[in-house]
Amino acid sequence: KSKKTAKAATKQIKRAGVLGAGIMGGGIAYQSAVKGVPIVMKDIRREALDLGLAEASKILGKGLERGKINQKVVAKTLTSITPTLNNSELADVDIIVEAVVENPKVKGSVLAEIEKVVAKDAIITSNTSTISIDKLAENLEDPSRFCGMHFFNPVHKMPLVEIIRGKHTSDETVAAVTAYALQMGKTPIVVNDCPGFLVNRVLFPYFAGFSKLLDDGIDFPGIDKVMEKEFGWPMGPAYLCDVVGLDTADHATHVMAEGFPTRMARDDNGAIAKLAAAERFGQKNGKGFYEYS
Ligand code: NAD
Repeated sequence: KSKKTAKAATKQIKRAGVLGAGIMGGGIAYQSAVKGVPIVMKDIRREALDLGLAEASKILGKGLERGKINQKVVAKTLTSITPTLNNSELADVDIIVEAVVENPKVKGSVLAEIEKVVAKDAIITSNTSTISIDKLAENLEDPSRFCGMHFFNPVHKMPLVEIIRGKHTSDETVAAVTAYALQMGKTPIVVNDCPGFLVNRVLFPYFAGFSKLLDDGIDFPGIDKVMEKEFGWPMGPAYLCDVVGLDTADHATHVMAEGFPTRMARDDNGAIAKLAAAERFGQKNGKGFYEYS
């Protein structure tokens, strides 16, 4: 008897939805749209939607200036992003990328809410930096259609996307999300679930080490200068924190400490926690380690 080898075809992503129009949501919307997958971008704040669209226009403007794209691409990309304050506009998307604040409770309720809005076979993903996918999956009725889809900042420049497989994630979900990442021009890697996944398990100990150097009295511009100019990294840790967002980094240190209590103990007196508490969130509000005009 011949073995049946026919596999279910990978789900095609024709229309996407992103929850949150911040640094990441705006970038994800741009990247999906520019690669030909229209996307609905939802936030709870009108200003965030405006900023997300402005960021997409800025990136397109630079592309136009450098002759990499033409006016037609600019217009097509911008009309492929539909900003909205209403979940109901996400009813017919094939995939959701959740990119709201790095807080398990907020993400949990946002995910539970959206599952009721989208079709039964729509895929739901989270762009969480650190929160366990299995933990987030507890908020969903069908966790088989859920996984992590972790982009990096700035989305339009960073090739990597971590696809995080939870214990209930189906093969079909992983295949469809991988295909969507490729469609977006990214390099997907599939990783197992744990707080911080792969990249942030490397990055957050680095931030913790940086913070300890500050405690020892070393000044941050000096550290940045060494890491950047002499060690050859594209940016030093203080500047990177400002790019990431001190509030997001601070939320993430809570999650990492909970997941790895001895290895990644949280330092409430560390520079990241203190700057976040002082609402110095980095580039997003013009002040972090450095000041921006
Ligand atoms: P951000 O603060 O720039 O944006 C978050 C957005 O979510 C805000 O615009 C806020 O209004 C919106 N929001 C809050 N509650 C919402 C809700 N209920 N529905 C819809 N929108 C809501 O944050 P960010 O840096 O874009 O981070 C978003 C997610 O991406 C986080 O999980 C973060 O860990 C992850 N991430 C961040 C980076 C980074 O470098 N900043 C990199 C990778 C992943």
